[in-house]
Amino acid sequence: MDSLLRKKIENGDELCPADLKRLLLLENQEDLQILYQAAYKMKLRHIGNKVSLRGLIEFSNICTKNCYYCGIRKGNHAVQRYCMTPDEILAEAETAWKWGLGSVVLQSGERSDRDFTDFVEQIVREIKRISNGELGITLSCGEQSEEVYRRWFEAGAHRYLLRIEAGDPEFYTTLHPADHSYHDRKQCLKTLKRCGYQTGSGVMIGLPGQTVDHLVTDLLFFRELDLDMIGMGPYIIHKDTPLAVQFPDFQQKTEFQLTAALKMIAVTRLFLKDVNIASTTALQALRDDGRELGIQAGANVIMPNVTDTSFRSSYQLYQGKPGVNDAPESGMTDLKKRLDAIGETILFNTWGDSPHFRKY
Ligand code: SF4
Repeated sequence: MDSLLRKKIENGDELCPADLKRLLLLENQEDLQILYQAAYKMKLRHIGNKVSLRGLIEFSNICTKNCYYCGIRKGNHAVQRYCMTPDEILAEAETAWKWGLGSVVLQSGERSDRDFTDFVEQIVREIKRISNGELGITLSCGEQSEEVYRRWFEAGAHRYLLRIEAGDPEFYTTLHPADHSYHDRKQCLKTLKRCGYQTGSGVMIGLPGQTVDHLVTDLLFFRELDLDMIGMGPYIIHKDTPLAVQFPDFQQKTEFQLTAALKMIAVTRLFLKDVNIASTTALQALRDDGRELGIQAGANVIMPNVTDTSFRSSYQLYQGKPGVNDAPESGMTDLKKRLDAIGETILFNTWGDSPHFRKY
């Protein structure tokens, strides 16, 4: 890395698209350590040595869409479909609350029928009621109308995750069928912000056909949309998907993908500075300590899965997802130990909102 670029990242200066590209192209171990350390310093400046947790509840794997990379796409008939009952969801939310997780993420496949939107609204209200309003709620339930987003917001949800998966419109079309619209998805992100949500998006890293220029476009997309939260993970193949069939020779190169994902986390932290960035479970799928490495590269959020183990094997967007059979309690104890070991403290009993959002 040349001394000018090094100085820029160590000072936390503004980065231009050419800088972003040069950082994403770094390969040398020494340079990568400089990058991760600068990103971690930026995290300390805006967030401290703190990690926020969200209890992840994957409440339904029924989806009306057919994204080419996704294991629970509608066209995959090998998946056993489920939708938890309200009691099952509430029991998990209560567990998360009692553990002091502070907030939950309710995640599902995408449906926009009235039964579903009413169901989600009711669940949000009930979680607020049983936790005396203390549990924060993030939704991740896909594209919806403004009216639905507003109803869910008024019921008590205050953060929303909607991953674009590819910020470049042309590249987006290679990952989705023709009736999935990049434009609509982008509009939904704008609508979510208008409704008052802390809004998050993200991409996959290491997809077949993805270039470093695509990743720079992703970063510019995050900034253009003025997002509050970013969730990114390495692309991990699911064999029952069109993308796996289309690229039969695509090799999962663990080290390469892990480094690519960590670089993207670090550059996102340096570029956007005060947003929440998730260290995703997909990182842990590549390496046992992948989530800790994500934190040390600038991420500040982890989403422990509190979904009952009997449902988890049916919610695999990619194969080899870790923790499918782990009891939620043991996962939490283990996570606390791991974060202690890298000098990070869990923020218990707080919503862990994005500092970027709180600025406004
Ligand atoms: S990525 Fe989301 S919307 Fe696309 S098929 Fe999977 S669950 Fe459905």
